[in-house]
Amino acid sequence: MTTRISHWIDGKAWSGVAERTGEVFDPAAGTVQAHVDLAAPEQIQEAVAAAKRALPGWRSTSLAARTRVMFAFRELLSARKDELARIVTAEHGKVVSDAAGEIARAIENVEYACGAAQVLKGGYTENASTGVDVYSIAQPLGVVGVISPFNFPAMVPLWFVPNAIACGNTVVLKPSEKDPSAANFIAELFAEAGLPDGVLNVLHGDKVAVDGLLEHPDVKAISFVGSTPIARYVYETGTRHGKRVQALGGAKNHMVVLPDADLDLAADAAVSAGFGSAGERCMAVSVVVAVDPVGDELVAKIAERISGLKVGDGRQPDSEMGPLVTAAHRDRVASYLDSGVAEGAELVVDGRTVEVADGQDGFWLGPTLFDRVEPGMSIHRDEVFGPMLSVVRRPTYETALELVNANPYGNGTAIFTNDGGAARRFQNEVEVGMVGVNVPIPVPVAYYSFGGWKDSLFGDSHAYGPEGVHFFTRTKVVTSRWLDPSHGGVELGFPRNS
Ligand code: NAD
Repeated sequence: MTTRISHWIDGKAWSGVAERTGEVFDPAAGTVQAHVDLAAPEQIQEAVAAAKRALPGWRSTSLAARTRVMFAFRELLSARKDELARIVTAEHGKVVSDAAGEIARAIENVEYACGAAQVLKGGYTENASTGVDVYSIAQPLGVVGVISPFNFPAMVPLWFVPNAIACGNTVVLKPSEKDPSAANFIAELFAEAGLPDGVLNVLHGDKVAVDGLLEHPDVKAISFVGSTPIARYVYETGTRHGKRVQALGGAKNHMVVLPDADLDLAADAAVSAGFGSAGERCMAVSVVVAVDPVGDELVAKIAERISGLKVGDGRQPDSEMGPLVTAAHRDRVASYLDSGVAEGAELVVDGRTVEVADGQDGFWLGPTLFDRVEPGMSIHRDEVFGPMLSVVRRPTYETALELVNANPYGNGTAIFTNDGGAARRFQNEVEVGMVGVNVPIPVPVAYYSFGGWKDSLFGDSHAYGPEGVHFFTRTKVVTSRWLDPSHGGVELGFPRNS
């Protein structure tokens, strides 16, 4: 018997019998450790109905009371962060220290939501016209859906849920079916923090659940994070059903290394950001663009650092890189080693030869390094989403920039240089949403917002921070006259300000 993971609806675990379930693996052991219930249309109705019932009470709960729940949640999450990190590692495979980093950043998003009252203040203009005052208020949208990917099972839900709730919305969270337990842990902690039943519901499932939320007339907005084809589908389907949608997609992040860069710093950064979380990060560095003449030296430094990496079970404290999330994903990533070689790239480090002390049946693939990669090769065109770094050599800054800007994705990028002028030029000219200068994973802090350009984001709002609050609210502007209500009788002309 494996563990069963089920929905969290209206403040309690769902106790029905699921028609369909999905397998949840232990990626380090290569075994099935749990089954997750996959929602049928009835459970989608149930979850949305619970969120709808909770809405009138929650939207009229005072900001002070909503803020107190958020602070209490922040304290509980902080106290139990190690437990959550172990849950993430058990189902995702990333090493525990990496999971702890994801949770630390998630807590910063919760802290931002603790201050939502500050951001929700509207404007007030006294005497906009004689005796007339005008003011704006930010109101919640209603029931909102949050659909998240497997690679950050704690952080990505917490990019959205705290702000959505703090703004007075109620939520149906549909986490990835590959590592579903973190979402239940979060929902239970919110309940313990005093969040009323039905304000946050967790609906497990696959396409059926996603489609159910996209088409449901009572769901007013969707925040989605996942791969580009699904993000595009979610955006198009959700907006066609009249919803506000932000859909964050995939990535192919390039890191440009100029000749004057500190090459040790650049090599450390490329390896850390390329192989952390086994490359399963939307902000992972996937392509290193070595500007002449640094190619040979940089490739040697990266290869040297890879040889020192310890790949193993994420639960072991000395492991630096864990397994991939599923066997299917590992096999897909591994297939790019064959296509890279067939297409003419130079395989410098072959991840298939990795040795893992225990658990040989896990979904292992070691760090891989390709040199002399060119656009058009599948390893440069596709989002591989695994432990693979490609080095492309370019003769000049201009040709490096051209390569980055020609890419259809625009999530993150970085430049490594000691030339402030070159860095400033890059930040101005690059067509990417998040830019690092000597920083390889430029994930913005919680009080800015996160989002890519081009095929990395569909919709108008970035995630979390001020744009997140903007996404989860709609503005109402009130024009009022209390004193001196002189109006001069019936007047059919368009009102003028006096
Ligand atoms: P995915 O697109 O396969 O799944 C994301 C969500 O969509 C999951 O909840 C899944 O159940 C659902 N889904 C999957 N197939 C669907 C379908 N056919 N119809 C409707 N819903 C479907 O992504 P993933 O593999 O879980 O996550 C990895 C991807 O997410 C990568 O492409 C990565 O770059 C991207 N990502 C992007 C960001 C960002 O901020 N831009 C952050 C994290 C991950």
